[in-house]
Amino acid sequence: MDHLVEANRDYAGQYEPGLAGAPSRHVAIVTCMDCRIDPVQALGVHLGDANVIRDAGGLVTEDTIRSLAISQHKLGTTAVMIIQHTKCGLTTFSDVEFRAELQAATGVEPPWQPEPFGASEENIKAALERIRTSPFLPHREDVRGFVFDVDTGLLHEVTA
Ligand SMILES: [Zn+2]
Repeated sequence: MDHLVEANRDYAGQYEPGLAGAPSRHVAIVTCMDCRIDPVQALGVHLGDANVIRDAGGLVTEDTIRSLAISQHKLGTTAVMIIQHTKCGLTTFSDVEFRAELQAATGVEPPWQPEPFGASEENIKAALERIRTSPFLPHREDVRGFVFDVDTGLLHEVTA
């Protein structure tokens, strides 16, 4: 990763400090860690605009709720955008299989629970429901879910 550290030196040379830590657009984006998704380019957000919470799949787990609770209570966000995507790597195996594989390799049972994988209408609705029913989130009205198509770059909204 030396070239990444080197690139950071160039970045720091033109870096402009002074942005507030609270997102100016008051939005939190939950999306997959997939390397084909770039929220900055795909959504026109810039530094200082949004909290971006990424995990494998763009799932809403307990840890996502933890981050959203901090985002809403402490950083003033009021909207949540969930973006899962087509051709997600997680659709190539099941969480149950993966857990068994890890347990076989390490002798330790992973502590996390199986999660639904892959961007489907059903999975996105389940993610929206987790946010809309969380007692830890004060802002649960402006919550929308989308599928990002990695072939076209377009978002498709999943409506309730
Ligand atoms: Zn993915």
